[in-house]
Amino acid sequence: VHPTAVRRPHAITVRSENTLYTEEHITAKFFNRGAEVNVTNGQFNITPTVQEYEFQTKRTPGKTGLMMIGVGGNNGTTLCATILANRHNIIWHTKAGVQQPNYIGSLLRASTVRIGTEPGSGKEVHVPVSDVLPMVHPNDLVLGGWDISGVPMDKAMERAQVLDYDLQRQVAPHMALLGKPLPSIYYPDFIAANQEARADNVIPGTDKAAHLEHIRANIRKFKKDNELERVVVFWTANTERYSDIIPGVNDTADNLLASIKSSHFEVSPSTLFAVAAILEGEPFVNGAPQNTFVPGAIELAERHHSFIGGDDLKSGQTKLKSVLAEFLVNAGIKPLSIASYNHLGNNDGHNLSAERQFRSKEISKSSVVDDMVDANRLLYKAPEIGPKGVPVGKGEHPDHIVVIKYVPAVGDSKRAIDEYYSEIFCGGRSTINIFNECEDSLLATPLILDLTILTELLTRVKYRQVTPKAAEQKDFAPLHSVLSLLSYMLKAPLVKPATLRL
Ligand code: NAD
Repeated sequence: VHPTAVRRPHAITVRSENTLYTEEHITAKFFNRGAEVNVTNGQFNITPTVQEYEFQTKRTPGKTGLMMIGVGGNNGTTLCATILANRHNIIWHTKAGVQQPNYIGSLLRASTVRIGTEPGSGKEVHVPVSDVLPMVHPNDLVLGGWDISGVPMDKAMERAQVLDYDLQRQVAPHMALLGKPLPSIYYPDFIAANQEARADNVIPGTDKAAHLEHIRANIRKFKKDNELERVVVFWTANTERYSDIIPGVNDTADNLLASIKSSHFEVSPSTLFAVAAILEGEPFVNGAPQNTFVPGAIELAERHHSFIGGDDLKSGQTKLKSVLAEFLVNAGIKPLSIASYNHLGNNDGHNLSAERQFRSKEISKSSVVDDMVDANRLLYKAPEIGPKGVPVGKGEHPDHIVVIKYVPAVGDSKRAIDEYYSEIFCGGRSTINIFNECEDSLLATPLILDLTILTELLTRVKYRQVTPKAAEQKDFAPLHSVLSLLSYMLKAPLVKPATLRL
């Protein structure tokens, strides 16, 4: 078994008055140290603050299922096949030799964290992130889901053309046991017209309330049949167009529910799936860029204390961009333009070749440098303040453009070219060019696993504020419905409504 797939008993014990272990829980005190800053006439007056919190984590994860929407696609089939390869320890031959299954690319399974130093030697001690708190092992996830394409899972894996033939050959019988994806909701207006030929496995009718009930029943049955404590519902289906936010339609929870009842045109399949998961009390994560979480869906999640997270997996080009933009701006260098070009040849690329679906991706890929620019008004001029004291516009911003082209020949191997053109000292210029070639689904799959496992963990965490006295919460409460802790793995992180943005 590869080290990233090794199953380790929970290995960490913290000996401190701030950490308490019982059979059922780990309870830890946390001191949130910050600072209040008052600005008067350009002077900053800083008052350090400290608030005490307690976090209580249920120690044993329950049996967990992962239901993917789009399970028959490249990500869905690759995820199922690689978990099965790990679970059955299938090794396969490539032209380079023998390959072992592993979880490389998973932050939880393949990266480590420094937990301290050994007394005496001063040697640093690192452990896998998955050792820090009890988490589900990916091999134990019960797999299922929906797809508008009814191709059985072994054949769908073959269609995806992601995995080596020798692995496909050996894992196919296990994939065949997963059967055919469950029929799904198909509203042709939301995904590209070029996907129509795939849609042979759809829930009949046009009644959106009936579709919602159908999906809710699917989740309940999957949970019952597999004796699950938790099901994470995960959108890894095609990118949809943006939904228009229409007052009275999807702006509040009640309006959204009423719009589902009246089968309003603007309720997308992904929003229906999210509402189904929310009403079933199961978490929903959106791995694609569209605005599944219309305001009404977020309000509904808050009302039902259900968990949601999104949007859009941050796998390749954008991950590098968030690191590089931060690096350049923090080094005092001023990016003037970032020009990003991609081509890819898988079905995702085909879908994104349609204008409205591309637009969803363009939006999520573009937001990534905003925070860096907002944080450095030495390099980028702040927006002007209008007559009512409200900022006008967004202030200075680097030119940022994203192009995506569909080139069938390259299949799942995405190519990305990024040019970072920056102003340096006294009028100088610097250009960094990056050429990035990667197997898209093999980058995305470990992220889906991490997001699923972290989401399950976060459903077991409760907290209460202890100080200041006036804000004390007597009882432990679940985390907020919007799981912003997942943001590291997402391109356009969803945050709690009214979270301050400059
Ligand atoms: P894919 O086209 O291979 O798979 C998508 C699957 O969804 C297809 O099998 C399709 O039949 C199915 N589908 C479409 N609409 C559906 C619906 N309403 N209900 C159920 N199934 C439906 O695409 P992929 O490469 O697996 O990517 C999946 C999603 O993940 C895309 O939206 C993509 O933009 C997003 N994503 C992928 C990556 C990556 O690196 N691979 C990164 C970020 C985001």
